[in-house]
Amino acid sequence: MSRPTTVHIRLDAFRHNYRMAKQQLAGKALAVIKANAYGHGAVHCAKALKNEADGFAVATLEEALQLREAGIADPILLLEGFFAAAELSVIVQHDLCLVVHAPWQVDILLAAKLARAVPVWLKMDSGMHRLGLSPHAYIKAYQQLKGHHNVASIVPMTHLANADNLSSGHTMQQLAVFQTTLADLPTAHTSSVANSAAILAWPQLNQVINTKQHWSRPGIMLYGAHPIMQPVQPDLLEPVMHFSSRIIALRQLEKGDAIGYGSLFTADKAMRIGVVACGYADGYPRSAQTGTPIAVDGTMTRLLGCVSMDMLYVDLSDIPTAGLNSQVELWGKQVPANWVAQSAGTIAYELFCNVKRAHFDYFDPANI
Ligand SMILES: *Cc1c(COP(=O)(O)O)cnc(C)c1O
Repeated sequence: MSRPTTVHIRLDAFRHNYRMAKQQLAGKALAVIKANAYGHGAVHCAKALKNEADGFAVATLEEALQLREAGIADPILLLEGFFAAAELSVIVQHDLCLVVHAPWQVDILLAAKLARAVPVWLKMDSGMHRLGLSPHAYIKAYQQLKGHHNVASIVPMTHLANADNLSSGHTMQQLAVFQTTLADLPTAHTSSVANSAAILAWPQLNQVINTKQHWSRPGIMLYGAHPIMQPVQPDLLEPVMHFSSRIIALRQLEKGDAIGYGSLFTADKAMRIGVVACGYADGYPRSAQTGTPIAVDGTMTRLLGCVSMDMLYVDLSDIPTAGLNSQVELWGKQVPANWVAQSAGTIAYELFCNVKRAHFDYFDPANI
């Protein structure tokens, strides 16, 4: 039998979560499937939304081309635009949409010789200070690009830095900067603002933007992880990734016995533990602490000691029926990825992106 470390991907849950995103905020939604769909498999995820997604968003040209090669014909937005002028002809050839976020990109786009005009998503830095043109530079760039023969259309966009923090005033400040700047421009606008946290937690968005003409950009929520740790509607989303393995060895510890590298965990009583075939080389975080939730044969228990490259330890003291070959859920339905992330000092985004080496299997009831 091969190593039992498995990533089971529920594409029906992915579809469900996309529908929830559209239900929460009217308008259109680009499914964000950058970084191989947050580790879930971009082509599988895109195909699961065939004839349903309004479009997709990725970070790199390579990610976009992978989707085109797989036959995905929907709109695809490059979230960082182009990195070098030479990419523009490929972008036109494959009918991709482009974020323009910096003056140097505006200059290159205006000067380029293109076979066709490209749809542009012009990004404003409304206060996150990562990508985007400052409000002042934005107006100038908008006027230069509007009607230019290389530009098919312009969707104003911005990105929120603190939408996952319900008590932060920054979100409304950013929205105000965005709206005030756009008000100085001549035409009525579509726009694109909301990430998952904004979709799920900021109904005030409806008062600020015209949601009917809005393109939201859900990412993490599509994978079933809530961007807010104590969500108002915890059951709205369904987990997509089910990361599991099995117990491959058992140990009986006496009081005072320590386990694993660094002897990080010492038994304070006689206890039974299991060794699980999953480690940090599979993407389970090495920073996860003793006590991190983990499920064995459907019963919640805890991680013990130091995670190794290929293995980790679970407490079986209260699960006498568990033994060799018992099923272990690292995260999924019973153990939300957010719980593991919290215990490891990170976020579910990073856990998902890091999963590797394990065997991936895909389930879509619509295709069986
Ligand atoms: C990654 C990304 C998103 C998606 O964010 P989530 O928090 O995963 O919903 C949206 N917009 C931009 C610009 C991004 O880079």
